[in-house]
Amino acid sequence: MNVEAVKKWMILFTEKVNQNKAYLSELDRAIGDGDHGMNMARGTTEVMAALEAKNPATVADVFKLTGMTLVSKVGGASGPLYGSAFISMAKEAGTTDSLLAILQAGLNGIEKRGQAVPGEKTMIDTWQPVIKALAAGNLSEQTIADAVAHTKEIKATKGRASYLGERSIGHLDPGAVSSGYLFETMLEAGV
Ligand code: ADP
Ligand code: MG
Ligand code: MG
Repeated sequence: MNVEAVKKWMILFTEKVNQNKAYLSELDRAIGDGDHGMNMARGTTEVMAALEAKNPATVADVFKLTGMTLVSKVGGASGPLYGSAFISMAKEAGTTDSLLAILQAGLNGIEKRGQAVPGEKTMIDTWQPVIKALAAGNLSEQTIADAVAHTKEIKATKGRASYLGERSIGHLDPGAVSSGYLFETMLEAGV
């Protein structure tokens, strides 16, 4: 895994989140508190500043700085969750070059931090099918879009959206959508 491609990935992700900031918050307004776009835009913009200031030399260091920045700069649930993902990815990247192993470590980090499993209408419902497709050798933009779209059909049992119970059905999960951007930009960056 190439450090320049990983930096490019973080830049593209930041751009995508910022372009879709209003949309992410609108999704969160329907089943949460309406701040997911703000949280992610602030967090990723802080990541860009930190990467520019520190210019980390290895993939593990890029992930570590990204994770630490998200944990410290994002107040909402998504900060510690994405933060745990990147910090776990950094640890894994210290010992392997395998994208599959690294993303799997990221998912494990989210699951551990959020005490959630697939099917609870969270960002995990993007991460898990994406990793499954990557393992099967058929990860594409379509796989990502399908995973994200599926969150519309399920009931939230974790996070703020779970307060709505059945009424969360029919809405996309905002964190699943932002995770969709993460994986789309991973493909674009050629990581
Ligand atoms: P907050 O809910 O604190 O306002 P955000 O709006 O930034 O935080 O993030 C909400 C997103 O976080 C949800 O859409 C969901 O994808 C994700 N999320 C919330 N709780 C959990 C959890 N326990 N495990 C995994 N993901 C979660
Ligand atoms: Mg929110
Ligand atoms: Mg909030």
